[in-house]
Formats: sequence, structure tokens, C-alpha cells
Amino acid sequence: MLLRAKHYSTGDLVDVVFDGDRIMSVALAGSTTPDAEAGWISPALFDLQINGCHGISFNAPTLTVAEVRHVVDHSRKHGIAGLLPTLVTNSFEAIRHGFSTLAQAVKQDSTVAKAVPGFHLEGPYISSEDGARGAHPLAHSRNPDLDEFNHWQEAANGMIRLVTLAPELPGALKFIEEVTALGVVVAIGHTSATPARIREAVQAGASLSTHLGNGSHAILPRHDNYIWEQLANDDLWASFIPDGHHLPAAVVKSIIRGKTVSRSIITCDASSLAGLPPGRYREWGNEFEVQAGGRVIVPGTPFLAGSGVFTDTCIGTVIRQSGVTLAEAIDMASAHPRHLFGLPLWELKSGSSGKLMLFDWNPGEDPSIKLVVG
Ligand SMILES: [Zn+2]
Repeated sequence: MLLRAKHYSTGDLVDVVFDGDRIMSVALAGSTTPDAEAGWISPALFDLQINGCHGISFNAPTLTVAEVRHVVDHSRKHGIAGLLPTLVTNSFEAIRHGFSTLAQAVKQDSTVAKAVPGFHLEGPYISSEDGARGAHPLAHSRNPDLDEFNHWQEAANGMIRLVTLAPELPGALKFIEEVTALGVVVAIGHTSATPARIREAVQAGASLSTHLGNGSHAILPRHDNYIWEQLANDDLWASFIPDGHHLPAAVVKSIIRGKTVSRSIITCDASSLAGLPPGRYREWGNEFEVQAGGRVIVPGTPFLAGSGVFTDTCIGTVIRQSGVTLAEAIDMASAHPRHLFGLPLWELKSGSSGKLMLFDWNPGEDPSIKLVVG
């Protein structure tokens, strides 16, 4: 298969010969008619936090294998060829059902298996404080419990690769040590920890901040707070949500300057309502509202409940908000999270295997995905 587009990093017009999941060659464009062409070509996107879409929630007690496949297929239309399906704070049984259904989908469906190298557990071991808790239900937020986690890991067939928790909770530091020893990445998020506790969490093995700047209190002490501490800690990667709603431009720019591009990870944190038209929707007993432009909120509150858009939109937004290059934006949404999880990178070079995307994009716009291969 001959693909022709501008290389996302060099800007050269290139011909990419692709076979199955391997790049046979990358060379300056010739005169042979290509099988597909677009404005740009790059590695496909990888998102470590996708909650569902189109009304399908990975958290639903009725989640089915077919629904998991639908989310994987739809994510791919947005260039997301790899993802960590994410379960949030819920009852033991709902989380167990979610993980066992996800594990079944990976086992039964090779398309899901190729796109899903692991799962993300965000909560339930998070702060019960308003603001820090975000849209997570208070009734199910609780202290870390390794025994409970092990039951979920068993249901998940060992595929929980990321846990987001609040390190100030009783037992959290020991929990971090134990699960990181098993190869699980631990992220700090939905927290009200002191700066000292953030440092202890990193010493215990935490290596990521989950959606830094969101799932946090509306008002914080100006210096002594968990956001500065995570921003300044060189042993923490940071994910953040540049969807145009979660963070103002100055914060996005400051996070990237503070963490540097190389430790920055873009996530869309797509809500189960992502991709739906504006309106009010009920989900697991709670009401949510999708507003114009993809903003998803808990009605009557300022709390966002995940994003209504996908990672491709975040690429356009992060460039406009922070001034990073197209290549930097795409690396933050593909190579960097894959690096964090020790997954092989999808590099746009001869001999590399992986997944690629062709897309149109002009400065100031969001990318428009044309084709994902691999
Ligand atoms: Zn969250």
C-alpha cells in the first residue's frame, strides 16, 4: 500500500510503503500513483483515558463486548488506534463487571485486542472532597484496598496497567509500592494531598499526574499546593486535557513548559457522552449535559464530566493554546504515552511497525482524519 502525504515531523512530501503493520520504506514522493493520499501522515494516536462514547460507558453495569468494539471502532475514526479503556469510581460489582467484559472483548475480538494493550482504573481510591472528586460519585469513593484491587485485576485478566488514586488516603503509599512492583503504573489524581505527600507518593513509585489541573479544588493556597508540586516534579509525567474546555490556554502552556514536551501526555478523557449531540442524558443514576462545542458537565455545577471530543480535536487545540508544533502535539498523543507504558513506539520510518494516520490539517484548525492503517 502506497501512502502519500507530508511527513508530520519534517514536512517533506513522502511516499510510505506500508504492508500489514510494517513500514517497508519512507522516501521523498515519486511519480507512482498512490493508493491513498492526504495532507499529512504520522503515527496514529494513543489515548490512556477513554471512558466510552455515543452513550456507551465502560462503567455501565450492562456493558457488552459489542459495545467495547463500537468504542474501539469509533475511536479509530478519530485517529486513536490505541487506547486504555477507563473505569471510574463505582461499586465493587460494577467495576468487576466492567473489567471482566473488557477482558472478554480482548479475548474474543482481535480488533479490540490490537487496539487495547491494557485498562485504566481511575478511582475509586480518590478524594471525597468536592472539586478534587470531580464528577466521581461520593458514595463509592473509598480508601485503597489491595485485596479488592486484586479481584479486579483477576477479572481484567491482569490487564489493569494504570491506576489513578489520591495518595493522601490511608494505606495509599503501601498500595502504590505494591502495585508498581507488579508493573502497574500509578498516577496521582483527584487528590487533595499536601506537597509533602505528593513527594512521598513519587518515592513510593507514582510516575504520572492524571489530567493535571482538573479534578482539583476551585481554590487552593497560592504556593503550597499539589498542582505546583506535581508540575515541578521531574519524576512525574503529566497527562492533561486540551479540549478547549478543561483548561485555559495559559494553563496548558504552563504545564507543557513546566513538564517539558517530553514528559507531557495529551488525553481527551472522552466521556461516554462524547460524540452525542447537545442535550441532557442520564447515566448510572446521574444526569449529565452535553453543551455545544462538546463541553460535558454535571448540570447546575461547574464540574466537567470528561470530554465531548476526541484526541484529534485536542491536537488542534493544544497547538492553538500553547504554540507547540504539529509534531510535538502528535508525539504527546502517541509516542509519549506508549513510552510511559513500555509499549513499542509507532515510528514513521522504514522498518518500523505500527499504526499510521493520514489527515488534513492547516494551522489554526483541528486535524481531519482521513485514514488509519495498521
Ligand atoms: Zn478524572
